Amino acid sequence: MPIHVALPLPRLEPLTYGLPDGIHVQRGCRVLVPLGTRIVTGTVVAVDQDAVPKMRHIIEVLDEEPSFSDEVLELTKRISEYYLSSWGEVLQAALPTGLTPATVLHVTVLRPITDDDLEEMELRAPKRARLLRELREHEGEISVSYLQRKLKATAIADQLDALQRMGWIRLEQSLEQQRVPRMVRAASIAPSLLSNEEELRAAFDFLDAKAPKQSLALGHIYLTTQRDGRPVEIARLADELHVSSTVVDSLERRGFVEISQVIRRTADDEDSSLVSRNEAVVKLTAEQATAVERITELCDMRQLSPVVLHGVTGSGKTIVYQRAIQHVIEGNGRVLLLVPEISLTPQLADRFRAVFGDRVAVLHSRLAVGERIGLWQRIRAGEFDIVIGARSAVFAPLMDVRLIIVDEEHEPSYKQDDPAPRYHGRDVALMRGQIHKCPVILGSATPSLESLANVAAGRATLLQLTHRADGALLPSIRVVDLREERKSRRLKGAISMTALDAIAARIERKEGTLVFLNRRGYAVNLQCEDCGDVPMCQNCDVALTYHKHANVLRCHYCGYAEPMRAACTTCGSVDLRESGSGTQRIEEDLVTALNERMERTPRIERMDADTTSRKGEHRTLLKRFASGDIDLLVGTQMIAKGLDIPRVTLVVVVNADMSLHQNDFRASERTVQLLTQVAGRAGRTGSHPGEMIVQTSSPDHPAIVAAINGERSPDVLRAWEGDELRLRREVDYPPYTRFIVIEISSLDEAATLDHARVLAALIPARTDYHLRLDPVTPSVARIRNAFRQVIIIKNFKDKDQSGALCRSLLRNAFATYHASYASSSVKVTIDVDAHGTL
Ligand code: ADP
Ligand code: ZN
Ligand code: ZN
Repeated sequence: MPIHVALPLPRLEPLTYGLPDGIHVQRGCRVLVPLGTRIVTGTVVAVDQDAVPKMRHIIEVLDEEPSFSDEVLELTKRISEYYLSSWGEVLQAALPTGLTPATVLHVTVLRPITDDDLEEMELRAPKRARLLRELREHEGEISVSYLQRKLKATAIADQLDALQRMGWIRLEQSLEQQRVPRMVRAASIAPSLLSNEEELRAAFDFLDAKAPKQSLALGHIYLTTQRDGRPVEIARLADELHVSSTVVDSLERRGFVEISQVIRRTADDEDSSLVSRNEAVVKLTAEQATAVERITELCDMRQLSPVVLHGVTGSGKTIVYQRAIQHVIEGNGRVLLLVPEISLTPQLADRFRAVFGDRVAVLHSRLAVGERIGLWQRIRAGEFDIVIGARSAVFAPLMDVRLIIVDEEHEPSYKQDDPAPRYHGRDVALMRGQIHKCPVILGSATPSLESLANVAAGRATLLQLTHRADGALLPSIRVVDLREERKSRRLKGAISMTALDAIAARIERKEGTLVFLNRRGYAVNLQCEDCGDVPMCQNCDVALTYHKHANVLRCHYCGYAEPMRAACTTCGSVDLRESGSGTQRIEEDLVTALNERMERTPRIERMDADTTSRKGEHRTLLKRFASGDIDLLVGTQMIAKGLDIPRVTLVVVVNADMSLHQNDFRASERTVQLLTQVAGRAGRTGSHPGEMIVQTSSPDHPAIVAAINGERSPDVLRAWEGDELRLRREVDYPPYTRFIVIEISSLDEAATLDHARVLAALIPARTDYHLRLDPVTPSVARIRNAFRQVIIIKNFKDKDQSGALCRSLLRNAFATYHASYASSSVKVTIDVDAHGTL
């Protein structure tokens, strides 16, 4: 029986292996197979029935149950075709890390190995002898990957196989031992007590008299299990009640509680929720009700239906999702909900937990490996009805999916940049919807132009929420022209007096303020006042970023760091000036300016990648801000996302131009989206009207005008969208074309240029369905010492709807290139639907 196995290597089609006698394997199971001289983990993608002559055999079957359902196998196959990566690479990306061991095979020595044995072996098979000698040095098990490292040899698959057949060793799979989730003992009330109130009361009466501590513990277990619907971890209970855990054992002996093993809860689960109201009972607005009705109708039709849910910020999209989900799970369906970056949006997950409790699995980027695997296994076992997670959750092993929701579908973080497969979570969600035959809701206050074009072409249904729920008003917006402010010296650092006045007023009224730095990253560069020199990374063609806190200069591309310089290395001047405004710098400016004018010292905190690197820090900051413990929060994109804090009445955008002047064909679109999202953070309730102050040097730029007026006057936004789409069409950019980027890089500059030229020549310059540009040097010409070239391909969607024609063209070019020219020192990657920044 030939078995087809997909391996996680670039450009490799599934390979065929034989199956050892007596072993069975199903499609979707992971297996260990020999590949050349290595042992590799792959996935069985097909099992043939016909007998086939000699071939290499599978070494080990790793799964009893398939790791992949038929649907996910189909999904990964389509992804590999669309994104031109190998099926095995996609399958690997679809599993949680930790479940994808390089080699999990372990070797156990079965009988003592004597010197004579070794000598004899030496004569016949020296390689095997070396292996055996190594094995003799070790007590107990040893892993294959360790042996490979130790012997500096990869060619051990066949030797091990031989030694096993000769009865020296046993090769065994070890099931991700250290990685399985930590199990702990937990207690729940005995069913007999739960079903009989008399008995319960009798138990308490008895314990009150005989064993008060046990009574206390039983009461705690009762209340907690009633509230959470899951057993109480015993260690935690002992801690909280200051009793010994033997108290619970006594309760078990009396038959009052049952003890079981459960997966230990993560710190996040137990944190108090950021949710303040019960959303399961709020009354829907008319618009929400209509949207829910349409979506539930579509769910019942059981076919792919893309829906763009365009709701202004605060219009209650989340509630629409919740009610649609309710409908689906009542009909025994399951739901996949994708969110941009879950660790940045703890509030959103909390809102779903508050309504759906333990039926929700939250795949969090900060879960420990074991926790993630534990959740993944429980999802596969069917324990959850709803899975919430970021991009990779689109692969969750969920069955019976009847609804897929992509929240904030316009977010760039849905795109995976590296490594392959370079997929887009939203587009993969649509593929999955096609396989499960279900609606896919793309929700956003600022839908991507891709989605709007799909609506215009009739490929997606548009549902709109045009008003804020709860009677809240859209924020009023003031524009501050930075050019004027600079002229009249009304700037304190990067902050205008206008903004400072508004902030001071909020602090006095104890309302919350967000100060937003509209920029990816938070770079502060250093520049010499005298010669203009800017310290650069020694490995990459980018300026180093100054991190004041650690007093180092660091490269954001390769991580290179050096101590802050005392003087310019070019001219020796000590006048080094910070240029650009990072969040840290803004924070300092604000503290200085506000301390001058206020009686009470305002409490200002910063929220960016630096201050939230540890688990839970983000949540803690948000909680303190929500409770009024912090007056003002300065931050990056992180504060623009899905924050719903009623006391925020002012949002200040430090410099709206920053995202506008990026080298990206989506720069305008991104600016509109960012500003609209940020504005949405202000005045989320009817009682606290909000204001946004936008500082900009280009108040007349169409994107800024559109963003500022957009939610209030949809016509302005529609006009901008129309203009932008027309522009994109004129210059052949998405959404009318697929933007495909081939990157060639190597340590050798000449080789890079040469390979780029050769590869480009293998791709026709144009057909009626594509355009291939000549290789160019991207804006960062060198990363980690590797020189870069890119070839851009635009694939016209109207002439090649699925992209199949263009892909076949590229596949041919790559095949020729790899057959006759490729070199291991030159790296070639391909990115379909790439970001615009190069
Ligand atoms: P969006 O995701 O569209 O920005 P949310 O779902 O976060 O909006 O809703 C904004 C706020 O309005 C939330 O606090 C939510 O609880 C509240 N809300 C939404 N719908 C209603 C409703 N029908 N009645 C009362 N409050 C609502
Ligand atoms: Zn200098
Ligand atoms: Zn670098």
